[in-house]
Amino acid sequence: MTRRATAADVIVVGAGPVGLLLAAELRENGARALVLETLPEPTGESRASVLHTRTMEIFAERGILDRLGPLPALGPGHFGGLRFDLAAAEPEHPYAGQWECLQSRLEAVLQRHASDLGAEIRRGHTVTGLTQTADGVRVRVLGPDREPYDLTAAYLVGCDGEPSTVRELAGFEFAGRDADKEMLRADVAGLTLDDRRLKRYPDGVATAYRRPDGVTRLMVHQYGAAPGGEVDFERVAAAWSAVTGEDIRHGEPLWLNRFGNASRQVTQYRRGRVLLAGDAAHVQMPVGGQALNLGLQDAAGLGWKLAREVTGTARPGLLDSYHDERHPVGARTLTNIQAQARLLFGGQEVTALRDVFGELLRHDAVQRHLARMISGLDVQERPRPPARHTPTPGRSTVDRLIDKTALVTGSSRGIGRATAVALARQGALVAVHYTANEQAAQETVALIEQEGGAAFAVRAELGVPGDAHELFLGVEQGLKERIGESRLDILVNNAGVTTTGQPPEDITPEEFDRYFAVNARAPYFIVQRALPLMPDGGRIVNISSGLTRTANPDQLVYAMTKGAVEQLTLHLARHLAPRGITVNTVAPGITNNGGAIFDIPEAVEAMAQLSAFKRVGEADDVADVVTFLATHEARWITGAFIDATGGTLLG
Ligand code: NAP
Repeated sequence: MTRRATAADVIVVGAGPVGLLLAAELRENGARALVLETLPEPTGESRASVLHTRTMEIFAERGILDRLGPLPALGPGHFGGLRFDLAAAEPEHPYAGQWECLQSRLEAVLQRHASDLGAEIRRGHTVTGLTQTADGVRVRVLGPDREPYDLTAAYLVGCDGEPSTVRELAGFEFAGRDADKEMLRADVAGLTLDDRRLKRYPDGVATAYRRPDGVTRLMVHQYGAAPGGEVDFERVAAAWSAVTGEDIRHGEPLWLNRFGNASRQVTQYRRGRVLLAGDAAHVQMPVGGQALNLGLQDAAGLGWKLAREVTGTARPGLLDSYHDERHPVGARTLTNIQAQARLLFGGQEVTALRDVFGELLRHDAVQRHLARMISGLDVQERPRPPARHTPTPGRSTVDRLIDKTALVTGSSRGIGRATAVALARQGALVAVHYTANEQAAQETVALIEQEGGAAFAVRAELGVPGDAHELFLGVEQGLKERIGESRLDILVNNAGVTTTGQPPEDITPEEFDRYFAVNARAPYFIVQRALPLMPDGGRIVNISSGLTRTANPDQLVYAMTKGAVEQLTLHLARHLAPRGITVNTVAPGITNNGGAIFDIPEAVEAMAQLSAFKRVGEADDVADVVTFLATHEARWITGAFIDATGGTLLG
């Protein structure tokens, strides 16, 4: 017995698309990865050939799409054989719909991607044993020379597909049921059949699709056919003839296969130091490419978290959030696939059900709901912190601000802090600005980092000569250190001083100038200084106040400064529209910023009465509105005054 050393933090078992993407993710986030694969060479087979919108986003963010080259769009999809348009998920999305990419090509590209990032890939190496220790995992491996050897690493991930050895060896519970229906599949040369897609016949359902290389992919199910026995061409041809009445026996079978409607999922995606991803964690009927896409999205969800764990930079519980996030997504996918299997494999008994489903699918809202689910766009994931800050070719509804940078003035506390945290949750790198309260600013940064986000603090006093210049010295330096350039995508002018409530008669000229200098002049010159750093499509949000719409004489000067801020929004929105930069005002009402008054219950009760909802606003209530305005979804809003007062202005 030899013991071959490995410098890997994580052993990934299986060099299919899921294992290869995971290895790349681990490397990209600073962990050392070793992939073990039984097959000496890739099979060249392509069980799956469809990429969905979320997967396309993941690939775009990592530069994998560039390596794949242009992919043909596949047109509408189906739900249990009923036609519906996957692009309905988000018609304007750059990757709306479904995209063709043969698995064999995907594997080749992902292998190169993972290798280029430094992952070691050993082919012809089979895992035969697995032991967990207190601080790691030991595996017994059979090498190509048939010589067994042992390897250790901190963690091991099974990406070894449906018949997962890792799942077996580590004792995962694999709940669910086996297949009771089967679909036969074959790639056959020498046929000239009409293309059809899940066409229903009296005795079954059949698909024929002639690929550009002239080979025809066939799929056929005879109603009631249960799995069992060998799949040979004779059997496929007999089933094809029984269902369609066509004779294909003269064709040359190149690949034969079958799949069933089994539905199983491990109850836990993690057992100690062993985790599962892809088909190793969930087995489902491979319909519409969901199995491949689900697995790839598992890998993207796991990679950065596991890397943080092994590099000692994860907050407590981060790794367990992989199960918490991905298990429900897997369960939901299995449910929709079982529903599809019913619609697909059923004979006359499902005709009524199919008719009703078909009617429902003609409704936009239903199409959109299902399309978002299948495309992976309705998943709530903790955003991945930016590992590499390259411009995002697409956009994501999950990590909606990934690779974006933001400056939030006055984000040491209050609404600014909540906004910084909310933007970081969506993936943005945030400059946290403050002037006096360094400790509070560092707390904001720590809050963001604990959640896996990225931020840095910048000090600059506003309202004094040279304020914007000083601020941007720090912002530019911070950005350059982290992303190698000083690009600023999002600016939130939030810092402000509020009058404590002085009658108009009592305000001195010095006080008047001070309020204007901090609240109105500073935002103006911050915008002026930010614009050369802001790419087209950037976002500016100015924080005003509901007080510009309701009279409160004791805060006259404060309200005047906010009136000026609103003018900044209005005129800049027109000025910057040609560059696709949106400029909007968000006007909070009374908002708990952690100030002393919010500790006095009677005062809070009195203030709460002003809102239609009879409570004071929380900083998050405002931060979420600002964050929305920063996203792609808000691209059509500019020059707007957004009332975020909880209905205070309704009177
Ligand atoms: P806050 O808790 O008072 O925090 C103010 C922030 O601005 C702090 O980060 C502070 O930094 C910074 N700041 C203040 N003066 C500054 C100066 N001269 N130079 C640089 N930074 C300065 O604020 P908030 O209540 O969350 O309010 C945020 C924004 O919302 C303001 O524009 C405010 O007018 C507006 N607003 C608030 C309410 C409300 O009820 N809270 C209602 C309507 C509108 P340090 O921590 O370093 O001091």
